[in-house]
Amino acid sequence: MESKAAENKLQDGAVESMPSHFIRNLVTDDLKQGKNQGRVHTRFPPEPNGYLHIGHAKSICLNFGLAAEFGGKCNLRFDDTNPSKEDVEYVDSIKEDVRWLGFDWDDREYYASDYFEQLYQFAIQLINAGKAYVCDLSADQMREYRGTLTEPGKNSPYRDRPIEENLSLFRGMRGGEFRDGSRTLRAKIDMASPNINMRDPVMYRVLHATHHRTGDQWCIYPTYDFAHGQSDSLEGITHSICTLEFEDHRPLYDWFLDQLGVHHPQQIEFARLNLTYTVLRKRKLLQLVQKKHVSGWDDPRMPTLAGIRRRGYTPEAIRMFCERIGVAKRNSTVDIAMLEHCLREDLNKRAPRAMAVLRPLKVVLENYPDGRVEELAAVNNPEDPAMGSRDVSFSRVLYIEMDDFCETPPKGFFRLSPGKEVRLRYAYIIKCVGVEKDPTTGEVRELRCVYDPETRSGSSQSGRKVKATIHWVSAGQAVEAEVRLYDHLFTKEYPEDVPEGSDWLTNLNPSSLERVTNCRVEPYLAQAKEGARYQFERLGYFCVDKDSRPDALVFNRTATLRDTWAKIGRKSAN
Ligand code: ATP
Ligand code: MG
Repeated sequence: MESKAAENKLQDGAVESMPSHFIRNLVTDDLKQGKNQGRVHTRFPPEPNGYLHIGHAKSICLNFGLAAEFGGKCNLRFDDTNPSKEDVEYVDSIKEDVRWLGFDWDDREYYASDYFEQLYQFAIQLINAGKAYVCDLSADQMREYRGTLTEPGKNSPYRDRPIEENLSLFRGMRGGEFRDGSRTLRAKIDMASPNINMRDPVMYRVLHATHHRTGDQWCIYPTYDFAHGQSDSLEGITHSICTLEFEDHRPLYDWFLDQLGVHHPQQIEFARLNLTYTVLRKRKLLQLVQKKHVSGWDDPRMPTLAGIRRRGYTPEAIRMFCERIGVAKRNSTVDIAMLEHCLREDLNKRAPRAMAVLRPLKVVLENYPDGRVEELAAVNNPEDPAMGSRDVSFSRVLYIEMDDFCETPPKGFFRLSPGKEVRLRYAYIIKCVGVEKDPTTGEVRELRCVYDPETRSGSSQSGRKVKATIHWVSAGQAVEAEVRLYDHLFTKEYPEDVPEGSDWLTNLNPSSLERVTNCRVEPYLAQAKEGARYQFERLGYFCVDKDSRPDALVFNRTATLRDTWAKIGRKSAN
């Protein structure tokens, strides 16, 4: 299973140009041929039964993007036909997420539930035409009658009910006369069709449930299959773009539209996005939330847009990613490193730099005057001179990263060790002259160092070479912070590929979150607002979490600086 998925792994994502794709080509051809009076009208049709994830972003970028590109329109339509799983919380989050990605539906916010009366009338029309009937089979019986992929189904004993009786029973269904599940309205198509979707599919079911928009007005609800195509038609959609699993439903959607004699949008299927180390199914994401494997839909480890946003991703990075992965007809899995690559490319240009020490080790500069504080100029972003520079305080007591010191350095370790020198970024060269340890644990507590006053960055004598430059903060000025480090939520590249009978949840990564407290950051970060993004020099990209308070700062690590995708890209280019 795993090897099959691996085989399909997309390796051409490193292509940097913006390739055209078959849907763009198809729309271009339609326009050339004057189809739909030159209109392009798409829609993004989420079911409000969960938060949007990065897979939905692909569909959003495609639908809204094509409309924008061809001077058309894109509707936002909630396919809200299943009241037992839907909620306004999801409607609100979906709207927020689509806007955040940078798209707008103006006043074209629609709901399948707005069409319930019209869909009911369509159903009556099909009954009158002898194309739909009320069926009394239970769900289990219906399954039995349906047949299999290799065997045809059997006709329901209720299939030949007279039209009048169907009309009366269907009105009774609407009127609340029947129990949940006791009756359905079915399309009368062909129980022997090789396509199981055509074997008299259910159009309506009895369901006494309160709908988040229509309340208790209805106790029958159309199935997705009956509502979806007709909703597209009612909105005058020209191109109904959906994922591959609906290819087999297309003949059914065509059948409904043809029988009803209404506007017929063209359905086009594309491959859904899959990402390594990630699960992209609302049902499964809901399980993670409900079973508290994550802190909520917006947990920064979640692939939801809410989670990704809280993690520090930019809408620009996501749109770039969606453009680069392209649109194909064959399912594949994209390496998550490519998503991170797009983020780094965007943030490298925009994120202000800062110095932060996650695991502080105290350094005392023995020859630096006590009480003196010097302000040193630090560049805000070497990629963008317009972002200017800031002052960073330097003093006798500093913190450096525990990892940047090694008492008995292995070969190739060029950072600080006894008797050795390093440069402090934007500051001076220092030399380690002593190590103080905890007498009981032997743990290094403090380094005694001396600085070379002639080596201040930017001064005439600063040219003396040392092998490493490390980051630091001044103990007296730095502020304390908590930093949350994230790793993939799953340990496996294909977390859903599990042996028969075992649970995909066993692939959860037990160390996907590490909270590091007692970090020290430059004091200017104390003013940072929720969501603000920075590059902590040498460590990665970080953003201010929503849990952050002025007296208790919290940062999320969005991504490290290590770009594994750039490496993969180079390798496959060679
Ligand atoms: P899920 O599989 O996560 O439950 P869904 O397809 O049921 O998703 P919908 O709310 O029906 O979710 O999705 C709205 C639109 O987003 C649909 O047109 C669907 O095809 C598209 N979509 C959903 N998942 C992906 C994905 N992974 N890649 C691309 N498009 C997707
Ligand atoms: Mg769906």
